[in-house]
Amino acid sequence: MAVLTNVGPAPYAPERTVAEIEDSEGNRIVISSMRLVGTSIRCACGAVGIEALGRPIVGVVCYCDDCQTAGQRIERMPGASPFRGNDGGTPLIVYRRDRIRDLHGRDHLQQMKQLNSSATNRWVARCCNGAMMMDFDDGKHWVDIYQARFESDPPPPPVSSSD
Ligand SMILES: [Zn+2]
Ligand SMILES: [Zn+2]
Repeated sequence: MAVLTNVGPAPYAPERTVAEIEDSEGNRIVISSMRLVGTSIRCACGAVGIEALGRPIVGVVCYCDDCQTAGQRIERMPGASPFRGNDGGTPLIVYRRDRIRDLHGRDHLQQMKQLNSSATNRWVARCCNGAMMMDFDDGKHWVDIYQARFESDPPPPPVSSSD
């Protein structure tokens, strides 16, 4: 398991000005509400775009049998681009489920299960057979996004869980 290091910009940005005040020396102070910054995730052809808001929970590389079998299967699909490491591991960035937002192309996403009884869904963009993410039928509160699909590096996970 590889964990992302805690470097990089804070995933917050000013949204709008809430108030402007002056301190005792007459300096103007602008108070802004903050929003979570989105990191863009796209399929290889760009038809499917999603956004992950704020910091991920953690970054991992998965070597389980399920990910290896599914990885080989998806990478063999026509036009699919590889998304696993040379060692067969699958780099995943884990986000809270409620921090994922569809931007466009949701219609292209196709659900794939290794077994019908499996709670794990892999979502593949049919437009270019790109593996996008995994979610779960059993109420897990997170989704695993294939790191290969990130347009830029996601912000680092928080040091403490209170972030
Ligand atoms: Zn695509
Ligand atoms: Zn796995």
